[in-house]
Amino acid sequence: MISMIIVMEIGAPQPEIEAVANYLKEVGVDPLVMPGQDRVAIGIPASLSADQRETIEGIVRAMAGVSKVTQTSHPYKLASREWHREATVVEVCGTKIGAEFVVMAGPCSVESYEQMHESAAIVKQSGATVLRGGAFKPRTSPYSFQGLAEEGLKILQQVGKEFSLATISEVMSPDMVPLVARYVDILQIGARSMQNFPLLIEAGKSGKPVFLKRGPSATIDEFLLAAEYVLSQNNPNVMLCERGIVPLDRTYTRNTLDLSAVPVLKEHTHLPVIVDPSHGTGVAKYVPSMALASMVVGADGIMIEMHPQPKKALSDGSQALTPDGFLALMGSLQQLSGFVKK
Ligand code: PEP
Ligand code: MN
Repeated sequence: MISMIIVMEIGAPQPEIEAVANYLKEVGVDPLVMPGQDRVAIGIPASLSADQRETIEGIVRAMAGVSKVTQTSHPYKLASREWHREATVVEVCGTKIGAEFVVMAGPCSVESYEQMHESAAIVKQSGATVLRGGAFKPRTSPYSFQGLAEEGLKILQQVGKEFSLATISEVMSPDMVPLVARYVDILQIGARSMQNFPLLIEAGKSGKPVFLKRGPSATIDEFLLAAEYVLSQNNPNVMLCERGIVPLDRTYTRNTLDLSAVPVLKEHTHLPVIVDPSHGTGVAKYVPSMALASMVVGADGIMIEMHPQPKKALSDGSQALTPDGFLALMGSLQQLSGFVKK
């Protein structure tokens, strides 16, 4: 756990960074040097006494190249707004996630070329910019449809190209990262995998943008620490997704969409926050209102499941919007955006 962060000035030269790190080592502190997008931050572990912290803070503040020294109470650092004030913008195929309201849409699973082609045509027509489709599906039962695997990725890639849409698909295990990364623009880490640490590390190393879904029982700190695993692989392109947490009651909804997590995350992290009201509710008729609410609470975008024929979907049909329902939602979002200040 980090107790203090030393933020270096933009472009501080290496000798100045080293001078700070060496001073810390001299006084028996093990500094954690964290290279950022435009500046370096140095973390100091929490095991120091208050007196030690005060002395170190006084000396370091006066050193060349030091911009500011802040005390932190958070267990995460790279994901924290404390040392990275500006919002992170993840640019994927021209879409600026974090700078504009982004809509990612498509079926839960890639089922066939025709199904993806039909879906992508609607996604394109709606003005959304990212096409989703699972090829490796995390299903509760091993007897449920497991996805088309590599064949599904090929279809997604092909259709994404045809319609000039960015693509996103889930990767479930570390060894599959290179395969999925070959075909898609964004790697999705599913809710069930949020704390699969080897997977987070591999996804981070791939250099691909990573879309991290919140685990169904993960706290905000656990969620941000998971993001920290990816960021610590020198991969700054991480997006967070609130997709519902374990509900009190499954009679009416599949999960409880924690919309209050959005302003909380926006305060404490610089990473883009996307909401998935499809898995968040599990019920198609509740998706539009939660999607609109996501825009109101300050989300950077939404992920929506939409299927040309929801009743025939091989997974998550009950929460999929029809093409007409999706287009109507996009119209409402467009209208609402005029009233919502980003
Ligand atoms: C999905 O996006 O289809 C999915 C499986 O989501 P989650 O990991 O949030 O359950
Ligand atoms: Mn799904």
